[in-house]
Amino acid sequence: MRIVQKFGGSSVADAARIQRVAGIIAETRRAGHQVVAVLSAQGDTTDELIEKARDLNPAPSPRELDALLCVGEQISVALMAMALEAMGQPTVSLTGWQIGLRTDSRHGAARIRSIDGARLLQELEAGKIVLVCGFQGIDEAGDQTTLGRGGSDTSAVAIAAALGADKCQIYTDVEGVYTADPRHVPGARKLAAVSYDEMLELASLGNQVLHNRSVELAKRYGVDLEVRSSFVRAPGTVVKEELTPMERMIISGVAKDADIARFTVRGLPDRPGAALRLFALLSGADINVDLILQSVGTEGRSDVSFTLRRDDAVKARALLDANAAALGYRALAVDADVAKVSIVGAGLMDAPGMAVRMFEALAEAGLNIQMIASSEIKLSVLLRRAEADAAVQAIHRRFFGDGE
Ligand code: ASP
Ligand code: MG
Repeated sequence: MRIVQKFGGSSVADAARIQRVAGIIAETRRAGHQVVAVLSAQGDTTDELIEKARDLNPAPSPRELDALLCVGEQISVALMAMALEAMGQPTVSLTGWQIGLRTDSRHGAARIRSIDGARLLQELEAGKIVLVCGFQGIDEAGDQTTLGRGGSDTSAVAIAAALGADKCQIYTDVEGVYTADPRHVPGARKLAAVSYDEMLELASLGNQVLHNRSVELAKRYGVDLEVRSSFVRAPGTVVKEELTPMERMIISGVAKDADIARFTVRGLPDRPGAALRLFALLSGADINVDLILQSVGTEGRSDVSFTLRRDDAVKARALLDANAAALGYRALAVDADVAKVSIVGAGLMDAPGMAVRMFEALAEAGLNIQMIASSEIKLSVLLRRAEADAAVQAIHRRFFGDGE
């Protein structure tokens, strides 16, 4: 088989961990497989590099920041190559540009355009373990780019797709994808399998196990992903298109997103085109809106509440303030003290009682719901941020019990 393995920063943080990972890679090759291993920068290296940059320049140019950040992954692959050489394993380490990983020019958030698999294939056919720097590529001008924080997952999936790999294994410091954050929720369980769509929801709702874009790419190219631990030998969680009836659960998880803000626009003219103008303005500025609630209009006016990413709140507020006259609203309120808690599950649509169970759990815990939204595979509520953890626990207990 041809297998792409990705090891995150904590898995290669020091010499002992590099040795351990080298053992996993060597074992996979010894089993007769072709292995491409994609590595992240060691431990907190990327954060430290960013700090070093800021010590010299509070706003370094994105090109130079990327030139610096690319170094982190280069250290990892070179050291791993040395560890594997010492074990007698034929190995070659390659950068993003050496494998022809082409991106657009959005430094710090580049998108992959193509991967020239020739060098990778040549090394694999020569019987070598190929180590590749995650997170980096090269743009049309020949400049180094990075894919955004956590981007090595995306590199690994893209390489697996380009090589037609049989699987892509994401090795990390947790054992897989859980029904809720196991550090905060007693009884959280590891899922044997989860669908791409569920994983996309879980990832966007603050489950940090996989980079969102990596899941999108895996879905697009049908890459079978497995999330598993670098430290514990146990089956992880498989992410794929279709789950078997045994694997399928009505609810696959409870997730929290505390990085949002709630906007309320009061006294918007209640006439055709008012909502269009408001949301077109935000979307034109690349601001994504999530939950939306519009009240029934009275006296020709209505109130609209919506949530967006907290990072976008300042920009969104400035935009709405600047367009207050054109939009014709009366007042604007912003509340950053909120969080969204959601249940996610591919079976939600066919199981009508789930919303009631979720609301019961919240009511019994005395937690007030501010907004509700649902989609085919997700049901979300907005609450006070301070109550979000209690909400996740109450909902999780309701659906999954306390665990043993
Ligand atoms: N080293 C990069 C980061 O810390 C990429 C990654 O870890 O995936 O964001
Ligand atoms: Mg990292």
